Amino acid sequence: MDKSDLARIWAVVYRSLQYEFGSPIVNSWISPLSVDKLHSGVLYVKAPSLFLRDWVVNNYQDAILRFCQKESKEIRALEIFVASVKPTVIEKTDSRKSMPPKQEETQLKSEEILGIPLDPKFTFENFVVGKPNEFAYAATLRVAESDKVAFNPLFLYGAVGLGKTHLMHAIAWNIRARSPKRNVVYMSAEKFMYHFIKSVRYKDMMAFKEQFRAVEVLMIDDIQFICGKDSTQEEFFHTFNALVDNNRQVIVSADKSPSDLDGMEDRLKSRLGWGLVADIHPTNYELRLGILQSKAASCSIKIPGKVLEFVAHKITANIRELEGALNRIVANAMFVGCEITVESAREVLSDLLRTNDRRITIEDIQKKVASHYSIKLSDMSSTRRARQVSLPRQVAMYLAKRLTSMSLPEIGKSFGGRDHTTVLHAVRKIEESVKENPSLAEDLRLLGDILTG
Ligand code: ADP
Ligand code: MG
Repeated sequence: MDKSDLARIWAVVYRSLQYEFGSPIVNSWISPLSVDKLHSGVLYVKAPSLFLRDWVVNNYQDAILRFCQKESKEIRALEIFVASVKPTVIEKTDSRKSMPPKQEETQLKSEEILGIPLDPKFTFENFVVGKPNEFAYAATLRVAESDKVAFNPLFLYGAVGLGKTHLMHAIAWNIRARSPKRNVVYMSAEKFMYHFIKSVRYKDMMAFKEQFRAVEVLMIDDIQFICGKDSTQEEFFHTFNALVDNNRQVIVSADKSPSDLDGMEDRLKSRLGWGLVADIHPTNYELRLGILQSKAASCSIKIPGKVLEFVAHKITANIRELEGALNRIVANAMFVGCEITVESAREVLSDLLRTNDRRITIEDIQKKVASHYSIKLSDMSSTRRARQVSLPRQVAMYLAKRLTSMSLPEIGKSFGGRDHTTVLHAVRKIEESVKENPSLAEDLRLLGDILTG
């Protein structure tokens, strides 16, 4: 069989492959191949890179051989080789070879092409640990500190502003510090999609895949971004599987748990949940205060503890907003030069406080307090003065004062039209009693947590 016979066979095979797999795949994977020779029943096909060869062997080798054999009985085996690599004959029966470990042939370190700069503040040292995030913290630290794959993937999820990105960067910093050679890539799902689309447009899927192939630890942030984007999901699925199959660590974050990701393909959803799923819960008062204290400690000016407590009570949405609030207070003190007090903080944060207050209503407080003390909700507004109802009522007024920005008269009105002096009295009374009554202190702490989430 001469060269032109081989070329003719290859052309037919090429068309059959196009028919079976579609043009994009054939353009990416088959068109770079060229037929070299037929020798002792073995068809030698040349591939431009090891990566391409492995990919073709893993995914299309059987089909190629099948189509070749249709055209010529002389072809018994197929060998796809890379010019620089010693060829090994691959028989039809042992076509499933794993991708070789990453190495030399990738010219550029993928993180240089793919990754985005890490925030120097997002380290484990700067991460304050509390009940809501201790599990996620432990899981990420474990991944960062083990040289073997710990769990694959690590799936981190939680609402916006609770520290997902911070933890991912912390993993990257930690690994880079310990083993600078490890190829760690952090990117947003959006950036992943951008790269993917770009390489489709410029018919450069190979380079795309090649880059990811060298990655040892891949972190994709905010995966929810690719919900409903089918071809990106498809590509992510392949990238993901290729990495996991080769024992590379994958870490993914999202704003929801894998099963709640609407618009995500089922197989991907289920795959994402295979490893360890760690969620970050909404903050509680202690964590917020801890974060504020830690940020305040690295601040050039002194912020009174009362102000930190005030902010921790009031700004409950998320940690990003909490930081923003603290920055504002500091900036105001520096530029305007006024003393930092709860009152000045309240003023500086007035707009933020309004939006946060909307989240905690008087009704909420009354309901939660009533159920905590097992009294009727109507007793919040009733005139009964028995201690088993008056104490909870005072607690509710106190919480209303602390957790909302409503004025004393407004609060009084919501408690059966009481006078503002009654509310003031209640607030003072609770403030006093709490000092010598640990069980009341515990009640307040608990209720505060429940209400501020
Ligand atoms: P997400 O990615 O979940 O939306 P980020 O990781 O961007 O949230 O966190 C928002 C901000 O809050 C960042 O500035 C981050 O440093 C800070 N932050 C979050 N959690 C903590 C924490 N536990 N300790 C200190 N700072 C935190
Ligand atoms: Mg984030």
